[in-house]
Amino acid sequence: MKTNDLFQWTRTQLIDWAVRHPRPLPWKGIRKPYQVWLSEIILQQTRVEQGLPYYERFLQACPTTEDLARLSENELFKLWEGLGYYSRARNMHATARFIAHELQGIFPSQYADIRALKGVGDYTAAAIASFAFDLPHAVLDGNVYRVLSRFMGVTTPIDASSAKREYSTLAESLLDEEHPGAWNQIMMDFGATWCTPRNPKCADCPLREKCVALSTGQVESLPVKSKKMAKKERFFVYFILKSGESRIIRQRTAKDIWQGLWEFPSLETDRISALQNWDEKQTQQWLKTWLPSDIKPVHISPATAPLQQTLTHRIVSAVFCEITFESQDLNHILMHLPENGFVAMTSQQIQSGIAFPKLIQQFVSGK
Ligand code: SF4
Repeated sequence: MKTNDLFQWTRTQLIDWAVRHPRPLPWKGIRKPYQVWLSEIILQQTRVEQGLPYYERFLQACPTTEDLARLSENELFKLWEGLGYYSRARNMHATARFIAHELQGIFPSQYADIRALKGVGDYTAAAIASFAFDLPHAVLDGNVYRVLSRFMGVTTPIDASSAKREYSTLAESLLDEEHPGAWNQIMMDFGATWCTPRNPKCADCPLREKCVALSTGQVESLPVKSKKMAKKERFFVYFILKSGESRIIRQRTAKDIWQGLWEFPSLETDRISALQNWDEKQTQQWLKTWLPSDIKPVHISPATAPLQQTLTHRIVSAVFCEITFESQDLNHILMHLPENGFVAMTSQQIQSGIAFPKLIQQFVSGK
């Protein structure tokens, strides 16, 4: 079969498959660039099931770009809390402000202008351009890479430097130029629900007749990925210095993980065993290094078991120790803490107004 015929056959098969297997999602078919952009940013690195309530929450709180631009950073992070990868939220905020203030609230409608927005890469730009404006740009996400690699038998590792051009050329050739938005959605849905990373539904696949991976026994091994990046591990002991309803916390401002989110005073160690064996004596030792001797805790709770959060390039583990003081001591403590920026807040203020990293939120909401 000639290549063009193969592509035409593939389009026919998959369009027919999509009619038989609809995948309704709230942002599908809505040709409003703000909604499309919002859903695409939320879905970067996030499963659809996890992203769905956030999309609805954002749309309810901020129905327009201007509403999103007006949020304070704390309000933004509170809405985003639990979704992770906070740089996405920061970029989204900057873009909303740019559109509201510099573009009179009008979302750009040309691919190059969409691609130039902060936080919008090739994939997101193609998604917005095709879904919202029906421009002929093929999306290339993990699902599309997998479908192309398997169906066409492409063995170039998807993280190789030459891969993007090779797969993009294929994706563009396969694109249904009359209905690029609908076609992109079909490719992504097919990869997400049929040609899945594990246990793809090959037995019932509309492409099985011409699938190279299936006929050559490479379904399990494609697509190829050459490098596996090791994640660096970090270990924290958090101290909840409290009195009645008040807790001492601060916002992380350093260019590090969780910038802009809130945390309790902490110390960082270099191994998990330090967390596993953390005891009251060590907590007292830490207090002694900075706490004036006339201030004594009323009670020190044992450290919790380690909790863990996986970030893009990090695995973070932490234990939490609660230390109770007399109420008049909290202000003195604030003056002596070894690092700056801490304030005392009530549990109610903490719960309603600020965003913690997922790991700390897990501890706070388990209380
Ligand atoms: S036959 Fe299997 S591997 Fe090939 S496209 Fe279909 S689901 Fe994917």
